[in-house]
Amino acid sequence: EAKKQGRNNYQFYKKDYAAATQDRLLMELDLRKALEKNELQLYYQPQYYAASRTIFGAEVLIRWFQGSTKPPKMIPPDKFISIAEETGLIVEIGEWIMKVACLQMKKWLLADYPLKQVSVNVSARQFTDNNFLKSVEDALSQAKLDSKHLELEITESMLVGDIKQIELQLQRLKKMGIKIALDDFGTGYSSLSYLKSFPIDVLKIDQSFIREMTVESKDARLTSAIIEMGHSLGQKIIAEGVETEQQLEYLTHRGCDIIQGYFFSKPLPTQDMTNLLAKEAQRHLTSSQRKALPS
Ligand code: C2E
Ligand code: MG
Ligand code: MG
Ligand code: MG
Repeated sequence: EAKKQGRNNYQFYKKDYAAATQDRLLMELDLRKALEKNELQLYYQPQYYAASRTIFGAEVLIRWFQGSTKPPKMIPPDKFISIAEETGLIVEIGEWIMKVACLQMKKWLLADYPLKQVSVNVSARQFTDNNFLKSVEDALSQAKLDSKHLELEITESMLVGDIKQIELQLQRLKKMGIKIALDDFGTGYSSLSYLKSFPIDVLKIDQSFIREMTVESKDARLTSAIIEMGHSLGQKIIAEGVETEQQLEYLTHRGCDIIQGYFFSKPLPTQDMTNLLAKEAQRHLTSSQRKALPS
């Protein structure tokens, strides 16, 4: 009986596995054509100053609208970035993301919108690609965008391996005037010692700490400790996944600099982000006009 059971499980597994492999292959084939078919879109999630609750920047987050169905099916990055990485497609897709993000940032600056920067996620395969620096330079110069408006997000898992090479790459980016943020901070397996040698400008506290952060929980204490540690190293702190007023208040009280999360806004398609920026610009204007009035 057990044997039969086992064989059935095996058959089941084999069938499952084959289906999964086929899904993956199909997705890989589709992804190869996604760029030329204009199926990839950049979304922007606004980031706010904790203290003033005014806009600071935006994180660039990719979406894939797979076109074979109507309306097209939205495939989130968690479902396809790993495939793009494994096939190397991420290099080409990543270059496209960088280019579009820089051009869009430039448009918003020209419109005088109060946005300081865009932040672009970079995956390991891109970061170690020989052509990476050149492609970032090209994206900036094509958009005529000053590098101070660009931040790159890397993860702790990318800081292991050839330490000298990584350090060199980060220093080159730093020299170009680009800021480096450490994404999902606190969830990786690497040691804290890299904070000594790598030029990291920003720590993004992972949402897993924020999610269950009730006052005086371990998550709250860790969050507070990360803010203090980062500040003492001269880093800016961003909290991700902030959904409630309570979380925002706690983080603000603890000195967290920047807030990102559904509390303020979900990631938005370009036009919606532009509308939000127009409103923010209006808010800035009214508050500075108010200040200019004699009291
Ligand atoms: P990430 O860089 O850590 O991005 C933050 C993720 O948290 C985004 O998911 C965002 O939509 C989500 N998020 C933001 N605020 C909240 C909130 O308040 N609550 C909850 N529950 N979620 C929130 P998304 O867009 O699905 O992206 C997932 C991951 O995919 C990203 O994590 C990043 O690692 C990767 N990714 C996204 N876009 C790109 C890209 O352009 N290039 C690369 N290489 N990776 C990307
Ligand atoms: Mg990120
Ligand atoms: Mg993150
Ligand atoms: Mg993440």
